Amino acid sequence: MKINAAVLWEPKTDWSVEEVELDSPRAGEVLLKLVGSGLCHSDEHLVTGDMTLDPAVAAELGVQQFPIVGGHEGAGEVVEVGPGVTTLQPGDHVVLGFIPSCGRCAFCAKGKQNLCDLGAYLLAGRQVTDFTARHHAKGQDLGIMCCIGTFGEYTVCSEASCIKIEPDIPLDKAALVGCGVTTGWGSAVYAAGVQQGETVVVIGCGGVGMNAVQGAALSGAAHVIAVDPVEFKREQAQVFGATHTAASMEEALPLVTDLTWGVGADKVIATMGVGDGLLVESAMSLCAKGGRVVWTNIAGINESDVKLNLFNMSLQEKQLIGSIFGSANPRRDIPRLLKLYQEGKLKLDELITKTYPLADINQGYQDMRDGKNIRGMVMYDHAH
Ligand SMILES: [Zn+2]
Ligand SMILES: [Zn+2]
Repeated sequence: MKINAAVLWEPKTDWSVEEVELDSPRAGEVLLKLVGSGLCHSDEHLVTGDMTLDPAVAAELGVQQFPIVGGHEGAGEVVEVGPGVTTLQPGDHVVLGFIPSCGRCAFCAKGKQNLCDLGAYLLAGRQVTDFTARHHAKGQDLGIMCCIGTFGEYTVCSEASCIKIEPDIPLDKAALVGCGVTTGWGSAVYAAGVQQGETVVVIGCGGVGMNAVQGAALSGAAHVIAVDPVEFKREQAQVFGATHTAASMEEALPLVTDLTWGVGADKVIATMGVGDGLLVESAMSLCAKGGRVVWTNIAGINESDVKLNLFNMSLQEKQLIGSIFGSANPRRDIPRLLKLYQEGKLKLDELITKTYPLADINQGYQDMRDGKNIRGMVMYDHAH
């Protein structure tokens, strides 16, 4: 079938909205009609060239990263299932997890689905079933972001990326839980392990950080300090449960010192647009003895310089940990968060600042760069 999709032909160019040829699903795959896609910062990392395919994976599969259909935060309805698909049928509503969870590898088996072995192929852009492409344009195979490619009206992907949800949940809101919401919420609840009465600092209040704020607040943090240079985001952070705000880490430091009688924050969660190794020490300095800094934001793949006082880290027993998908399990946590949404305990509606038709996707990303959106979203018009 022919669909409209946003393709990135090479880094440092605009998204190109064009007609893409989509094949039928093969074994273990499904065809989905998508309602829309969140404009997450990770696709911007494709544009800037921060996120590149591991050459070893490229060589193993004989694929190139570009051209690629972007998008990894979507939800929709199953239209057709390929041979051997047993857990889904046409009409089912699904959220796409940006990390597939096979359910069979050692990491899935021990309850770390966010580290599923299939994650090695996230940037390879091919179907994780047989590592070939279902998307094509101008005679070339197209990759798909995070094995799903949600910047198209329809997509074909593996059953392993699909999380079935209840049919009465609005799919546009549910889409956000496939990446940003779970990543932020889980960074607070699982990776940081926020406890009642703690003081938590969240650095960067976009589509991920705002959910770290609400995760920390839901966990009973006494103080949630939201740090962001954009005034609009600091204001919004208070809607999601921030008790205090600061425009920078430098501004947050005296505030945190005052709020904790000089002790420091129990947990610091870094959810900036782009992770910068030179800011690690600033985040660590906000943290109390025995405290924990969670590094959720993605840095350039070749970034390896970090500013960090190792003396203080040892003597004050500070922890610095990484986190992907909020250290959550897609098959448990996506339905769980949607239940919290239905019960009015998790805010999703308030996350979507603006929606765009697919044709305006580049404007959506410009608005993100300009700090105008908590989350922008492209919505598909299936009426045409
Ligand atoms: Zn994302
Ligand atoms: Zn697995």
